[in-house]
Formats: sequence, structure tokens, C-alpha cells
Amino acid sequence: MRTYPEYSIVIPLYNEEENVPELVNRLSRLVDEAPYAIEFVFVDDGSSDRTVEELKNLVATTAGRIVVLSRNFGHQTAVTAGLEHARGAAGALIIDGDLQDPPELLLPMIERMKEGYDVIYAVRRNRKESIGKRALYFIYYRLLKTMSDTMIPVDAGDFALLSRRVVDILNAMPEESRFLRGMRAWVGFRQVGYEYDRSERAHGESKYTFRRLFKLAYDGIFNFSTAPVRLIRILGGVSMAGAGLYLFSVLLKKLIYGTVPEGFTALFAAIVLFSGVILFSLSVLGEYIIRIFFEVKGRPKYIVSELYESDQRS
Ligand code: UDP
Ligand code: MG
Repeated sequence: MRTYPEYSIVIPLYNEEENVPELVNRLSRLVDEAPYAIEFVFVDDGSSDRTVEELKNLVATTAGRIVVLSRNFGHQTAVTAGLEHARGAAGALIIDGDLQDPPELLLPMIERMKEGYDVIYAVRRNRKESIGKRALYFIYYRLLKTMSDTMIPVDAGDFALLSRRVVDILNAMPEESRFLRGMRAWVGFRQVGYEYDRSERAHGESKYTFRRLFKLAYDGIFNFSTAPVRLIRILGGVSMAGAGLYLFSVLLKKLIYGTVPEGFTALFAAIVLFSGVILFSLSVLGEYIIRIFFEVKGRPKYIVSELYESDQRS
């Protein structure tokens, strides 16, 4: 009987009542087989179904905590809440609650970590999503990699095993808008990918709507890159150079032929084009200002409405 957890497993859940029984089942089996003391940290991200009740019924016999958030704060914040409540002395594993990330990989990942790594991030060898979504993911991760100064690995999500010191560092990072896979890469130390086949969601629908996915993609780019601002400078430079060349050619023509071939069409096109460039640029700046606005408020990242602890130790 151990009285402290060595590893925590952090699981965010949002309306996953159908997945809870199988999830807890798989996790309990893992705890029985593992030669480590493991605790669960379930985070209920404001579910409106019976996720919390199901959890309480099933978790009573194992070591674990259920962190119930006061409303839906989103996946990244839910994982953050989980990491802040994880007590595993050696580290924490982050998985999804829909069994897309096999919890059993904890054991081989721990072995890998013992080789001297602080972060073992899972890399999807394949995806089960539609071809369109897969293509978008593919392009996005590569775009982010080129734009960002942080080396964010491609095709790696939040599924990862983190050492205790990495968990502590992430917990000490105060930013409100959290793009965990980027923050994790930013921390540094020795990190390595662990390839796996991503399963299909066991039950229910993805809780990431297209809108939420876009928000996550935006957060990745605007929190980890200043490239959009530099892009504005390039846009401005190119337009100024283009306008300059055009004016120069008009002047030349006037001097040589004495004609003035100016048309309203060219004028109109130029106005529309540059108004577009200006509005686009304003929106890019606005994106950073919005982020500053939310950061300076310094609000708590989430609110816990209930912390349920099961006393049983594994
Ligand atoms: N999730 C959450 N809060 C949200 C959305 C999702 O805690 O606002 C959880 C969800 O219950 C799941 C995990 O985050 O355990 C990953 O979500 P999902 O499976 O819907 O994303 P996908 O795998 O489709 O990217
Ligand atoms: Mg999923």
C-alpha cells in the first residue's frame, strides 16, 4: 500500500457520460497492473449531462479527484485545471476522456522517460477524421511550425507524459489563453515523440466544433508567433513599392508621349485594394490587442465549483 501517487492521469471531460464507464474500467485495470501508485484527476468541464454523477459512482473505489468546474471553460483550460490539481510526484499523463488516447501507453511512456526525458508527447501515426479535416490539420501544423519561434512538433496534440518539473513550470505560467502543446514545447528540456495509432472516439460526438477548432488554431498562431505583424509590414511594403512603380511609369509616359491615360477604374481598384489591406492589418493588430486585454484583466483561468476526493489509495 502506497500513500502517495507517483503519476497522475489528467482527464478533461465535457458531456462524456457514455464514455465514463469504459474509461474508468480501463483506467482501473491499468492501475491494477501498473507497478506505480497512480491517481486520477478527472476534470468536469461544465458538463450538462450525468458525467459527474457517473464519475462519483465509479471512482469511489480508486485514488482520485474530481475537479468540477463552475461552467464550460474549454478543453485547454480544463487540462490546465487538471495539471494544477495533479499530485503525482514523478509526473502527469494527459489523455482525452473519449478513449482516443489509450491510457495503457502510460507504461511504455514511463520507460521512455526514464531514459532521461522530461516530456514524452504522443504523435499520431494516423487519424480517423475525414480527409478534409486531416488535410487542414496537416497544413496547419506545418504552417505553425514555420511561423513560430518555438519548435512546436507537428501532429502532436495534448496527449503527453510530463515530468513533475514540467508540470510545475506549466502551472507557474500565468497566461490566460492557453495553447498547451505550444507551452509544453516552449518549456524545453529533453522532449521526444512517441508514435501511436489514434483510436476512434468510443461514444458520442466530438466536443470540438469547427468554431472551437478554429479558435484553438488561432490561439496557436497568435500566442506563439509574431509573424502576422511582420506580414503586415511586407504587405505595406509591397503595396507602396507597387504604387511607386505605377506612378513612376505614369510620369514617364506623360514626359515622353504627353498623354494622361489615367482612368477611374485604376483609381477605384487601388482604393478598394488598399482599404482591404488596411482593414486586414487592423484586424491582425486587433487580435494581439484582444489578447493583451484578456491577459491584463488577470482573471482566474477557471473556477472550481466542487472538489471531490476519493480516499482510497491504490
Ligand atoms: N473537452 C473538454 N471541454 C471542452 C471540449 C472538450 O473538457 O470544451 C474534452 C472532451 O470531453 C474530451 C477531450 O476534451 O475528453 C477532447 O475533446 P474531443 O474528443 O471532443 O476533441 P477531438 O478528439 O475531436 O479533437
Ligand atoms: Mg476526441
